[in-house]
Amino acid sequence: RNISPFLDPGPRTKANSLAILQLSRDNLLPVYLQSPTGNHDGYAEGAVVNTRYGSFPHSTMLNVPWGSQIRASKVDTGSRGRKRKREGADDACRDATAASEKDNEDSPAATNEESAAVKKAVADSSGFIHVLPPTPELWTTSLPHRTQVVYTPDYSYILHRIRARPGSVLIEAGAGSGSFTHASVRAVYNGCPAEGRRKGKVFSFEFHEQRYHKMKEELSGHGMDGLVHLTHRDVYNGGFLVDGNSPEADAVFLDLPAPWEALPHLSRRRPQPPFDAKAAASENDQAEWVSPLNPKKTVYICTFSPCIEQVTKTVSAMRRLGWVDIDMVEIANRKLHTSRERVGLNLNFDRGVNNSARDVDEAIARLTDIENRFREHAAKPRDGDEDMDSADEGDEPPTPARGIPTNVEAPPAAAAEEPSGTTTTPPWLEGRLITRGEPEIKTHTSYLVFAVLPMEWTEADEAAAAARYPLGK
Ligand code: SAM
Repeated sequence: RNISPFLDPGPRTKANSLAILQLSRDNLLPVYLQSPTGNHDGYAEGAVVNTRYGSFPHSTMLNVPWGSQIRASKVDTGSRGRKRKREGADDACRDATAASEKDNEDSPAATNEESAAVKKAVADSSGFIHVLPPTPELWTTSLPHRTQVVYTPDYSYILHRIRARPGSVLIEAGAGSGSFTHASVRAVYNGCPAEGRRKGKVFSFEFHEQRYHKMKEELSGHGMDGLVHLTHRDVYNGGFLVDGNSPEADAVFLDLPAPWEALPHLSRRRPQPPFDAKAAASENDQAEWVSPLNPKKTVYICTFSPCIEQVTKTVSAMRRLGWVDIDMVEIANRKLHTSRERVGLNLNFDRGVNNSARDVDEAIARLTDIENRFREHAAKPRDGDEDMDSADEGDEPPTPARGIPTNVEAPPAAAAEEPSGTTTTPPWLEGRLITRGEPEIKTHTSYLVFAVLPMEWTEADEAAAAARYPLGK
């Protein structure tokens, strides 16, 4: 089966297929893995991925389970002295000791320490990377940017709202760098369509010639030729028919500077003045006007615009063209990292103020103590959990509280009030709760306008409905 690795990567890496190399948490490098004799003109140089911290011959990454950790080659491929060629590869290969705990960006103060550790690791040839299967999310993070792209938090919400699902036919313009395209292919792909059901397809349009060619090449390389039909066209003037035929779309996404210019082509009928000028000049200049939309389905649309003025114009055009349920959403996705700063032990330290361990011995002593306290806490019966009969028996071990396993992985519970009035706080609830936000919001903040075009309802549909559900019966 020749299926895109984005849809089914199989259990292991293979030659001439795309893999995403994770160099550090946020540094990903797309690479076509080559067999030792292969000569695929992919993203990485030759058959070795060279980084400042080590060399990774493709042969070491072939036929391994996805997600495998790959150690840097102990054989000097001659790359370390070479002039740096690939920014992505140079910037980030992490080493075994330095990056397992935290990422460079998290702690600027750690950079020097980390780079010393990296150097040591390189000297030991213990640098590593992970080899990951391609997914739309990883592709969005690693793709070569040619335009602003739609990021995962936006496209996951958009695809949900426009009801993209297996079997949907989706129109997208413009294609840009293909970030949204990859996510939409996965959403509409229908691997085993039932009788009469569609396989799902994306009809994508891009008017910038170089971007169109680059995207065409990428889609081919990603095994998506049959899943995306990419057309080189200015959709404001040319509309959305493909070779004069309707894609019969039921979902639409417009990431264009002027969506209102494209909307007249996304009509059920020939647009009337003042919308008719461009539509008349399009490929759809036929006596019988052909709609690119599925006449038997309700169509869901989203437009993506950075400015409120664009939104106003889009909403106005939508209203006049018969779209309903129009609303606008702005997504401001922000990762919050929440943790407890230190686990306080009430050992003459103020909670959350001065409770850091002074040395390794003290840290070990504290951890042992925490573990013991976890066990004690989990083993303690709670109100309403005691079995009165067994409590009387005396010899029985205490009944563990319901739902709390007697191991250190017990879930948090509220602090319990001791009879003496002192509060026993479970160790995992001690320490100060710290929440750190990301310094920058990584989504391309835009306004999302959603609308619905109800399915066409003809006299024949009405008659059929009336026959099926007769009134008064
Ligand atoms: N959604 C894309 C992604 O996730 O990678 C990014 C789209 S980018 C912001 C906008 C694209 O629309 C550009 O590539 C531009 O060339 C294309 N475009 C602008 N006007 C167009 C038109 N009239 N017809 C077709 N494409 C157009």
